[in-house]
Amino acid sequence: MRACVLDSPAPIETSPLRLREVPKPLPAAGQVLVRVQACGVCRTDLHVVEGELPPRKSPVVPGHQVVGVVEENGPGASRFPLGARVGVPWLYRADGVCGYCRSDRENLCESAEFTGWTVDGGYAEYLAAPEEFVYALPEGFSGLHAAPLLCAGIIGFRTLRLSGVEPGGSLAMYGFGAAAHVAIQVARHWNIGVYAFSRDQRHRKLALDLGAVWAGGSFDQPPLKLDAALIFAPAGELVPAALRVLKRGGTVALGGIHMSPIPPLDYGLLYHERAIRSVANNTRRDGEDFLRIAAEIPIHTEVREFALAEANAALNALKNDAIRGAAVLRV
Ligand SMILES: [Zn+2]
Ligand SMILES: [Zn+2]
Repeated sequence: MRACVLDSPAPIETSPLRLREVPKPLPAAGQVLVRVQACGVCRTDLHVVEGELPPRKSPVVPGHQVVGVVEENGPGASRFPLGARVGVPWLYRADGVCGYCRSDRENLCESAEFTGWTVDGGYAEYLAAPEEFVYALPEGFSGLHAAPLLCAGIIGFRTLRLSGVEPGGSLAMYGFGAAAHVAIQVARHWNIGVYAFSRDQRHRKLALDLGAVWAGGSFDQPPLKLDAALIFAPAGELVPAALRVLKRGGTVALGGIHMSPIPPLDYGLLYHERAIRSVANNTRRDGEDFLRIAAEIPIHTEVREFALAEANAALNALKNDAIRGAAVLRV
């Protein structure tokens, strides 16, 4: 099969992904073999490719927003009929036995495996994945439009939930890429007023097109204090900026897996019970809840399509804020 392989991390400008023929995976016990139709491109893929996330498998095939059809069931796998359309997310598997897993926090499992980082992902024609961690996809989304739901969507949704913002409340969103462009649609569905902060004029335009009540630069002051903030950009200097726009008691939820150092904070910014919390991975419950809500709303993802051979170009565009919505590889 064809796959985009990363032999060793390097700046995306050097095009470190190589499209080449590799053996088609065999589904192990409990796994399904998925013939990939589309794979979303996530900032985490950029962190894998550029080495901000240290290599856990090398060489590795990135990609963890995978839409495809079940082509083969491994021994003992029977959840999906052949031909079923499924999604493979970032959480490839958790061990199911540790304290985190047994307390509905499998996202924190220390033995978890991650698609496209510790195991091969979806920048390829096929991948094998444990059937228990694969999602059935709702009708009504094409493969290209469903792909960004699987990480940008699910992680954005978990970030929104962990921010504690209530229906009818007000919310800051920092960084208006793939995750924010989905999260704003959920927030609007809950009658939450969204204030978008981005260094990029195109992203501010997208936020306003999607119903933000206000859009400004990353360090601008909105017209009023807000209940909560979500940060999707990997820039630590946004943390004090976000605290500055919060009401007392508000939470800043950090949606990324990597962030540049957070500068020293004046305690006055944090005082009055403001909180900073990170968001790590997601549980299957997050994914199932989100996909149900995504179909109800229904969420529309803006996608820019790239061929599998153009994975380097897609990541480069993502790095330069040049994607409106989400980049997706058509496989
Ligand atoms: Zn566990
Ligand atoms: Zn992701």
